[in-house]
Amino acid sequence: MSDFNKFALNEQIVHSLQAMGFDKPTPIQEQTIPIILDHHDIIGCAQTGTGKTAAYLLPVIQHIVDSSPQHINTLIIAPTRELALQIDQQLEGFAYFTPVSSLAIYGGRDGASFEREKKALTKGADIIIATPGKFIQHLNLGYVDLSQLRHFILDEADRMLDMGFFEDIIRIANMLPKERQTLLFSATMPHKIRSMANKLLKDPKQINIALSKPAEGVFQAAFFTFNNQKVPLIEHLLMAKNITSAIIFCATKKSVKEIEQALKGIELIVRSIHSDLDQSEREKVLLSFRNKQTQVLVATDIVARGIDIEDIEMIINYDVPRDAEDYVHRVGRTARADSTGIAFTLINDDDRYKFRNIEKLVERTISKGQLPEHLGPGPDPNAPPKLSGNRRRPGGEYRGNRGGKSFKKRR
Ligand code: AMP
Repeated sequence: MSDFNKFALNEQIVHSLQAMGFDKPTPIQEQTIPIILDHHDIIGCAQTGTGKTAAYLLPVIQHIVDSSPQHINTLIIAPTRELALQIDQQLEGFAYFTPVSSLAIYGGRDGASFEREKKALTKGADIIIATPGKFIQHLNLGYVDLSQLRHFILDEADRMLDMGFFEDIIRIANMLPKERQTLLFSATMPHKIRSMANKLLKDPKQINIALSKPAEGVFQAAFFTFNNQKVPLIEHLLMAKNITSAIIFCATKKSVKEIEQALKGIELIVRSIHSDLDQSEREKVLLSFRNKQTQVLVATDIVARGIDIEDIEMIINYDVPRDAEDYVHRVGRTARADSTGIAFTLINDDDRYKFRNIEKLVERTISKGQLPEHLGPGPDPNAPPKLSGNRRRPGGEYRGNRGGKSFKKRR
């Protein structure tokens, strides 16, 4: 008997869980499923990889099976197309043996898809999964009937605020019935998320799943490098380990494109994914990476969160992620489901400070590797981290420019 039986979920749902190999609920599923089944609002501090998608989808599917709605019942808002699609794929699995219908709505598609979306919105699919901007486009055209909506779900709310979707989310929420269940999930809980939750949620139950540290199976190391040593070092790391599946993460799409170009000469197939590609191009790249036709994917953080691809052997951080938590997301793409993986981070002089913050977050010193001899000497490993601008020091106080004015040295 499946451990999911204790939630008294519909037989068809349990059947699909068995088919998908879900035997045991994850901690967030243990905590969240009964609360949602009981119709409470939830504010959940949890990130991708914890099983949060099933934690909210399973009870919502159960509610829909129980009530057989005729109009849109559930609206899930997610920051990126990739995440929206991935939620929809999980949903198709969980709802496979039920009559529950769903549609993912996201930008960057052709006129025919827009018509399909319009039709589904007019007919009233049970669950709509949408990115904020694209959903607002449909809302503005006046044919979306949300009067029967019962569940409003915000996934990766912190990321949506970072991307500037606050106003859009509030606009959408203002068009929903007041009597509804609202579930908000976020990897971090900055003040802005709490104030958004105060606006949108009623007497929510709080769930916290601690930030998971990179899995035990990930071997993590870092290299101090000069910028001009980074590409040759990446080539060396990929070729030395005979890698067949690796992601190189970069902070900007400019560096993604440059690195893809610079790696064209190696014997592996290298492709890139970033926000300049349209949706079908992104899907093609991801599919060929999933199928291992592409061995090296160069990417911005859009794939770091949420995208679940198995058997990635190596992650290389071309630069140190701005937020320490993004490091955990990036590194979390490898060594999934108890397998092993390698994560390398390249640290130039400007990034040392950020890397220290990462080591604090993961509560360990990450070992520093020696550059291969043919690259020549790297920067001094013992040089102190540079602080520039108003950066917060680990102790909490600020250093550098005070009050927006820089200090001039007196002669
Ligand atoms: P999520 O955090 O929702 O993106 O889920 C991360 C991955 O874990 C996805 O591939 C899910 O299919 C998988 N997963 C979630 N819950 C379970 C479970 N109870 N048992 C096995 N796999 C799960």
